[in-house]
Parts: sequence; structure tokens; C-alpha cells
Amino acid sequence: MKSKNHPHFPSEKTLDPTDWAAFREQAHRMLDAAVDRMETYREGPIWNPFPPALQANYQGPLPVEGIGAEATQAHMTALLPFGVGNTHPRFFGWVHGSGTPSNLMADITAAAINANLGGRDHGAMYVEKQVVNWCRELFQFPESSSGLIVSGTSIATVIALKAARDRCFNFSNRKTGLQKNALGPLVGYTSEQTHSCVARAFDILGLGSDALRKIAVNERFEMDTVALQAAIAKDRVAGLTPFVIVGTAGAVNVGSIDDLETLADIAQSENIWFHIDGAFGALGVLSERLSPRLSGIKRADSLAFDFHKWLHVNYDAGFILMRSEEDHRRTFSERPEYLKGAERGLAAGNPWPVEYGPELSRGFRALKVWAQLAEHGTAKLGALITQNCEQAAYLGELVAAHAHLRLMAPVAMNICCFRYQAEGQDDKTTDAINGEIVIQLQIQGIAAPSTTLVNGRNAIRVNITNHRTTRADLALLVREVERIGLELTASAHPAAV
Ligand SMILES: *Cc1c(COP(=O)(O)O)cnc(C)c1O
Repeated sequence: MKSKNHPHFPSEKTLDPTDWAAFREQAHRMLDAAVDRMETYREGPIWNPFPPALQANYQGPLPVEGIGAEATQAHMTALLPFGVGNTHPRFFGWVHGSGTPSNLMADITAAAINANLGGRDHGAMYVEKQVVNWCRELFQFPESSSGLIVSGTSIATVIALKAARDRCFNFSNRKTGLQKNALGPLVGYTSEQTHSCVARAFDILGLGSDALRKIAVNERFEMDTVALQAAIAKDRVAGLTPFVIVGTAGAVNVGSIDDLETLADIAQSENIWFHIDGAFGALGVLSERLSPRLSGIKRADSLAFDFHKWLHVNYDAGFILMRSEEDHRRTFSERPEYLKGAERGLAAGNPWPVEYGPELSRGFRALKVWAQLAEHGTAKLGALITQNCEQAAYLGELVAAHAHLRLMAPVAMNICCFRYQAEGQDDKTTDAINGEIVIQLQIQGIAAPSTTLVNGRNAIRVNITNHRTTRADLALLVREVERIGLELTASAHPAAV
């Protein structure tokens, strides 16, 4: 296999290895180190703070002369234990996917091809088209829908809301901008529980985050649809132009799912774009337990979700699914002469992904998504989603049965919010103790929940989007919360720790 033929003149340089046999050996060593790391994900503390000695490795000046392959690899190997912890079975913070060892193969393959998926006609493009078709099928979107793989739900939301906005102007605003806007101020609606990426999209799109109305929620933390209709009516009377309703399938605080069917009805009768943030929850359509509550997804104009959360695709990969391919293309298409398509040759394969989003050069994220679905299949991936929901319900039961723990919100899905409550302790002290319990769990390397406010009170938030978690991990978490809670309560000034 050794390349015998080096066509370079002695003065010509390349970044390819001069000794391919040595490179191959080095690559095998790196692969072994990576697999060793993955095989031992359960072992050791959940989080290793990055030691100052290693930090120093990343504080040097710009290298003029390189340090070479061996030293570079040594640095990379040293990094392996210092992830955020989301590969560990007791990582419960925020909403992180846990990844798969098999996805390493997809990343190696993608790196070897080094494809640019902005457009043109090559193998990688067919893989992405397959993923787009699979997403259509998964969410029961029509043939005339379109989609694009992106880095995550945040950018997918920007793409969707740009389409929603531009359609209001029949896309003329793409040339004239919003400065001389005939419609007056545009306004959109979402719930108080919605992720901040929606307000950020309003900001990025020049609408201003004040133009996003945060509708109150009911006791299940779902958008109050009566209040929504009242807000739309009030804005219309005031001469504003309602243009989008953003529903959530799996809200980030407690995992609630808005009444998507009713939101779709309202959007339809008001002639407003209906977008759904389904970052983690949308893939619940794969789970028998959740899919009945997600039936409204198929009525959305656009859906943003992540593969890197509940599908456990290694970071990063998200998706924007758009009901109207035409609206989608008219929102972004702009092909200057140097990007002209062709019927044949490398410039064929139209339309190109660049016509569906803001990016031209795009990596081969599609491969790891395709590989995850192809290898494991939707049945198993869906069963793992159900398993996580059952585990969250189990944790809810442990909490309910515990004298010192209190459930803070119903377990709607895969998230359980609770807190440690010693007898007679006031709310403020309890807030502080629970914040400290979470920090101690992380620092002691036991588990990594995060915190959130539920009805204004600090809660321990356990999100399970983790195919490595077991019920034993949750029982251990409850024991450790109790242990730390008791210790903190016993100390003289717990609020001051
Ligand atoms: C994670 C998340 C987002 C943001 O997604 P990114 O992939 O991190 O950009 C938006 N909404 C919800 C509900 C989320 O959980």
C-alpha cells in the first residue's frame, strides 16, 4: 500500500505524510486511544476540570514552525478525558445527546472524503438527500417539502423565521430590506417556556426580540391558547402584523409539549406561519409513548430539531424541515455567475443546498446522521427515547416517595425537576441549598444535573437524553442528593456555602 511514486519536485511541498506507513501506525494508535476512552465512559468522575498544566498547552504563541505529527497527536490524546461529561451515564444537564462510538466511523469517513456540500454533483449529496427524504417520511411532510442539515436548532430557527418573515412581503424585502416596510411592525408569538434561540432569531432578523410575544402557560407549562388568540386580536387592532406562531415540542425547562393541533388550527384560521421548535422533542415521533402527542407536527410550516440530542448523533447536527420547498428556496436562493448550475458534469445536481440556507461551504454532517439511522434503525432509536421517558417517570416516583424531595413540575417527557426540601426550611435557603447540591454533584464527579427556575423557585433539573443511563444511576442520584442535602442543612450557614 505504500506510495512509491512521489511526483513532487524536491522544492515542492505538501501537507501529506512523507511516510505513509508511519502515518498509518499513528492513526491506529489514535483510534485505539479514542476507543479506549469510549469503552470506559462510565468510569471515573463525570467531569474532570481542565488542569492548568493542560490549559498552558493552549496559551502559546502562533506556531511558525510546526511541532510535528507525534507531538500534535500527544496533545490530542491528552484531551480525551476532558469532555463536558455528556458521554457519561449520569450526565443530566441542559439537553445534551450522549453520542455513539459507531459515529466515530462516520466522522473518519467524512474527513477522508473532505466533501463540501454547498452544492455540485458528488456522492455526499446523495446521502444528504436521503436524510432529507427520511425526515419528510418521519414527520409526514409532503413531497413538495424541503430540508437542510445545519449545525443545530438555533440556526434552523433563523432559517425558518426568515422564510416566515420574507413570505409576508412576497420576498420583495430581500432586495428592499425592511426599512420601507408596508406592513408595519411584524409580531410573533411563543410561550414563556420557549428556548431563547427564538428571541435571538427575532434579533438576528432585524425584528427585535420585543416583537416576540411571550404567551403565558397553563399548569402543565403549555402555551395558553386562549391567551394566544387574545394577544393576536389585540395586536391586529393596534395595526401590527402577526406573522408567526412558534410552538414547542419539548420545552427546555420541564419538557412540556404545547397543544400543537390547536396552535395549527389558530395559525390556519389567522393565516399565520406555524413554526415548531422540536429541538429534542420532535424525534419523540419515533416513540410510541410520545408520538400521539406530536401529531400536530405534520401540520407545521416549518420544524427545527436536532440530531445531536435525542438521536445521539455526535455533535453537531440539526435540521430545518420546510413545508414549502418554493418558499424555502425563494428565501435564500441567489446564484451568482460563478455558482451557476449545469445539466451535466460536476455543476449538476440542482438545486444546491446553498439555495436553502445562509451557508455556502458545508461539511458532510449528513453522513453521521445517515449512519446512525442506517445502523441502528428507527425502532431501536425510538425505544431508547421511550426508555428515557420511563426513566424520568421512575425518577419522579422516587422523588414523590421521598420525605425530603419535592417534585416541581409534572414529568411530561424526559425531564424531572425536583428539589431537596428540609423540614421548616424557608424558600430562599432551599433555593441556595439546591443550587449548591447541583454544584457539589458536579464537583464531586457523581452526576451532572443542571438547575432551572420553576414557578420562580430553584429546581434540580434532570434531563435524560442519554442511552447509557440506567435506573440504578437515578437511584444513586437520589441517594447522593439526600446525602449532600443533609450535609448542607446540618452546616451552620448553608446559604453562604
Ligand atoms: C437545545 C435546544 C435549542 C437550541 O438548539 P441548538 O442545537 O443548541 O442550537 C432550542 N430549543 C430547545 C427546546 C432546545 O432544547
